[in-house]
Amino acid sequence: MHLTLEEMEIRRQRLTHEPPMGSYEMLHNTALVKDGKVYLRSHGENDEDICLVEFFVKNICRKECGADVWDGEIPHPEDFDVADCGFSGCLYASFYEIAIGAADLRGTLKFYEDAEEQKKLIMLPLIPGQAVWTIETKADHKTKFIRERIVNHVSIAENDFMQFQLMDPRCYRDEPADYYFDDIFWQKEKIGQTIFTTLEDAELALAGRS
Ligand SMILES: [Zn+2]
Repeated sequence: MHLTLEEMEIRRQRLTHEPPMGSYEMLHNTALVKDGKVYLRSHGENDEDICLVEFFVKNICRKECGADVWDGEIPHPEDFDVADCGFSGCLYASFYEIAIGAADLRGTLKFYEDAEEQKKLIMLPLIPGQAVWTIETKADHKTKFIRERIVNHVSIAENDFMQFQLMDPRCYRDEPADYYFDDIFWQKEKIGQTIFTTLEDAELALAGRS
């Protein structure tokens, strides 16, 4: 498989791959879940994936250790016990346990890495309903003061553009008061400059500026 530089850079940013290329990628992708069962990739006689239960449990621990072993699919947290020979130091049972964990982790991580690659996964610096404190200027264009606001709305556009609609808390809670509807939009870049997630940070910033 020939990759462009851009494709190689995308591969470097993630740990899960289908199919994996090279030994480093195999580290994170050898144990995998298919149809709810754990497989070891390309470990069969003809390079096929082999089922971990069939290979390890039946051929090794059950046969050689005489162990009572778990024989099912990806386990439920509340009822999972590895081969009971694991309690007496059987390394195959430990390997088996680690491989199940690795396959389970890989499946979950792949879900998020795929979403991130498709630009569907976005970390929001602020979420709707969150209180923030802004530094604003009074009508005299000189005096700075701190105001509490509530994030009402987050909007996202192309090229990483993100802005937040911040509201007066009373307005956000729909309380009757004699003020105008407060729906100013603030850009993401203002966080840490004129929008703060704690009152203390806003006070420090205001003190530093006056
Ligand atoms: Zn064993």
